[in-house]
This record gives sequence, C-alpha cells and structure tokens, in this order.
Amino acid sequence: MISRVFRAIILGPPGSGKGTISSRIVKDFKLTHLSSGDLLRAQVRGKTDAGLKASEYIERGGLVPDQLMVDLILNELKGLSSVDWLLDGFPRTVEQAKALADEVGVDSVINLKGKDDVTGELLTQRDDDKPETVLARLRAYQNLTSPVTDFYRDLDLLKEFTGTESDKIWPEVQKYLSTVVPPKS
Ligand code: AMP
Repeated sequence: MISRVFRAIILGPPGSGKGTISSRIVKDFKLTHLSSGDLLRAQVRGKTDAGLKASEYIERGGLVPDQLMVDLILNELKGLSSVDWLLDGFPRTVEQAKALADEVGVDSVINLKGKDDVTGELLTQRDDDKPETVLARLRAYQNLTSPVTDFYRDLDLLKEFTGTESDKIWPEVQKYLSTVVPPKS
C-alpha cells in the first residue's frame, strides 16, 4: 500500500506555547519532530563548523544567517523523505521559506498567534536566557518571522490558532490535524 507523507510547519512567537503544542502533535499524530533550535544547539555542543558559526547569533538572540540555516535543515530533511514530519522553528525568514519551497513541499502550516503584546509576562524563558536575549528574540520574530505567515497565507497553507493557554489551543489543533493527517496503516 502506498501511503502519502504528511509535512507540517509550526510557527509562533516566544510565549505562544509552541513547544508544548509541538510535543503534543508529534506524540498524538506520530510525526517526526525537527526543531531548528535543537538542531543548532546540538551543533554548538558538537563544536561543528556550523555550530561555531551559529553560537554568537544564538547567544545574542539574533537569527543565524539564512544560508547556514537552510543548508542545515535541508540536509536533515533529505534523511526524512519518506516520513511524516513537523518542522519547528524553521523557516524564520521569508528567504528561508522560499528556499524550503524550492526543495520540499509542505501540506500545512500551523500558526499559533499567542498573546499580542510584549509585556514579557507570558514569555517562556530558558534558565540560561538573559532578558536582553529574550527581547532580541521577540524583535527578530516581529520583524523577520511575521512576514513568513503572509508567505504561507498567500499559498493557502496557513491555519491559525489564537489563544494564550496551550490546554485551550490544543483541542482545536488536534481537531484540525485529525482532518488532514492521513491515518497510519
Ligand atoms: P529556538 O530554540 O527555536 O528558540 O532557537 C534558538 C535560537 O536558534 C534562536 O534564537 C536563533 O538564534 C537560532 N535559530 C533557530 N532557528 C532558526 C532559524 N530558522 N533561522 C535562524 N536562526 C534560528
């Protein structure tokens, strides 16, 4: 039996619950989770060329240069050509989205809109994060990643969910995905 692969992207600003929702999606729908942040941190730990180049950007909360990021992700996706996946944290710029679209088709883009202010109270902060790093990440999201949603909206791939609590957003995401993820045979 030929089964179709399902490929999805999840977008959402810091504090939108993207981490929580992503882990529920991959567990419930048995998708392979590819997180650009995790991938980068592994490269940094392994002191690879890419990791060494990326670390200064990560520490400052800025974005790693597009070409470096695109090469890393496309290389990972090559090994995942026959599995269902959820891409998390990539693309973060329209350039990245275009480079991905040139190589791989996606079926669905989930956008978690989260809370629409920058008071900081809803931010999820990793222990080693400095406040200025968190702010820089939010700014990078606002300036560079928000336009990515327009890119996918124009392609009619965007599915948006608004809310501040993962437990409230999750049932909606789950309901939607159960209509689009092909059942496993
Ligand atoms: P994350 O764990 O997704 O918040 O990513 C942590 C950091 O890795 C970000 O603040 C960026 O510096 C970098 N990063 C992750 N994904 C990307 C991407 N798609 N493009 C550029 N930089 C990225």
